[in-house]
This record gives sequence, C-alpha cells and structure tokens, in this order.
Amino acid sequence: MDAQKVRQTMDVQEIKHAVQIHDYIEKLEKLTKLSLKNSPIMLGLPSQKITLEIPKQSKPCYEYVEQLYEDISDHDLLFKAMKTGWQYIDSNYKKISKTKEEYFQQLNSSHGLHIAKERGYLIPDSLLRKKQFCYGQYEAYYGVHEIFYGNALGIWLSKSNFYNMHSYAKIYENVKLITSQFIVPSSVDNHSIPYMLDQLWVVSHAVNQVRLMGLEIAGEHNFFNGLQGKTFGEENYLKNLGYEMYQVASWWCRVDPYRVISEFLSVSGIFPDAINHLIGSELNSIDKYVCAICGAPMVRWGWDWIQECKIGNSTLLAHKHCANLD
Ligand SMILES: [Zn+2]
Repeated sequence: MDAQKVRQTMDVQEIKHAVQIHDYIEKLEKLTKLSLKNSPIMLGLPSQKITLEIPKQSKPCYEYVEQLYEDISDHDLLFKAMKTGWQYIDSNYKKISKTKEEYFQQLNSSHGLHIAKERGYLIPDSLLRKKQFCYGQYEAYYGVHEIFYGNALGIWLSKSNFYNMHSYAKIYENVKLITSQFIVPSSVDNHSIPYMLDQLWVVSHAVNQVRLMGLEIAGEHNFFNGLQGKTFGEENYLKNLGYEMYQVASWWCRVDPYRVISEFLSVSGIFPDAINHLIGSELNSIDKYVCAICGAPMVRWGWDWIQECKIGNSTLLAHKHCANLD
C-alpha cells in the first residue's frame, strides 16, 4: 500500500479504535506482568451442568414474573417466578431486559448496587460512590444484544448461512431471559454485600427444565486482587444455589465481544456449533488480530469490522475498510 493510502487507512474509525485497544492491552500486560494476549477467552467453567425442574402446574401469579423481566433482577425473584410454573418462564416477554444505552447508564451509576440496597442488602456508601465501570462488561452485553436482535448475522461464515438461520431460531427459542447485574445473596449471610452477576442466562432445552448460567466478565478491575473475579472461589456455593458459572476475559471482550459470546454459546451447549461458524475463530491470540491487507491491528466492535476477503487463492481476514478498497 502506498504512503497516502496508509495515512487514509489510519483515519478510519475501526482501525483507530483497534490500534487504541491493542495499545491498551499491551500496557495492561506490562502493568500486570500477565500474558493477556495469549490467554484463553474462557477463564472458568462450571464443574457440571445443572438442570432445574419447574412445576408443570402454574399458579395464577404474574407479580414476580413481570418484575423479573424488568430492570435489575435477583435470586429471590427468579426462584419465586420459577415456582409459579413453567408457562411464566416460557413467556413472550422480551429476552433482553434493557437496551444498550440503559445498560450503559446503569453500569455507570452502580445502579445494580443501589437496587440491592433498596432490597435490604448492606451496601457501604463508599461502594455506591465508587466508579466500577468496566468496558469489557459493556462490550459483552453489546455483543449479546446484537446477536440476539439479529443485527449481527454477518459474523457467521457465509457457507453455513442456512444452517445458522435454523440454529438462530433454535437458540432464540431456548434462551428465555438474559439479564444483567443479577443479584445473588452472598455466602456470608443474606444482608452482606451480594454478588452481582454480570449476566444471567435463563436457558431451557426441554419443557419444565431450566439452566441458570452466570456469565462473569473478569479482568481489568479484578487484576490487582491477583486476577480474582467477583465470584471466583464461590463456585460451590453458587452451584448449590443452582447456578453454573462461566468466567470470560474482559480484555478479549474489548477485542472481540462476538467471539467471546460465541465461545460461551458453544461451551455452555446453548449453540454448540457457534464457534465453528464464526468468522475469525481460528485467531488464537490477540496478536493475530491483524489485517491481511494493511497490517494494522483489528478488533470487532461492530459486527462487520472483520471481513473475509479473497486474495489470490486464499481467504484472508481484513478490516471492513481494507476489504472494500479497490
Ligand atoms: Zn486493514
């Protein structure tokens, strides 16, 4: 590429953003002395799948269910709703409780902790004031949103299009609810600072059965406790309550949230083939997120930021911008 083209390329938003993210991760590596670029995406998996039975008979009771599908949800609410019977869980309520913008606002204002306090949990004021914003958390939610609203169908390999449309309908049917900042009482007692699961997925592969999957974005804000996530070490407690816990690396969420969610969909069994159908899933290190045309770093913040393109006989990955240059 000639010098003028390279200069133009560096002005493109997707490329500027990618350069910033890669630089940021490099700095984070130096600071933490951890090999983040080569780290796995999944940092923790549950020791087993847990299937909970739901009564077939439904009690005529909407109060818990409506609350469950709004705003910030919690363990007590969910279990009350599950006791009211299958038909309420298998409702036509929207699967994702809030928009990306609402989620951003909530994350930015520690909204979940404020709600927990209203519900009787002991939350120190210092914690309410503390800014806990984690971009990885936001980006993971953004990725989920785009995938579930069908805005990101172009992340799947074109040769598996038909199969994916079918699979997409299936996962949409099986996933009943994805909620963020889900409150679970701590193992200490009911009033101590609760756990806030970054995402809770309520999934069902069979009538009257559900799985509760907690997705936790571990990283940036956990580093200085030696890579401890908020629920690391509490898996047994959460397992006994009925939750399967999955931990993902937040730095990977910053590079490729669609990849992170696809890995989760695969390992959890929600959509086992997700990762095989994802464009770019062969890139096994953040350093490999490099454009085959201009050589600059890539990230997939927009679903179409990484594209396949034919160069000679090979299929390579490139920025949207570079793939569409003449
Ligand atoms: Zn490029």
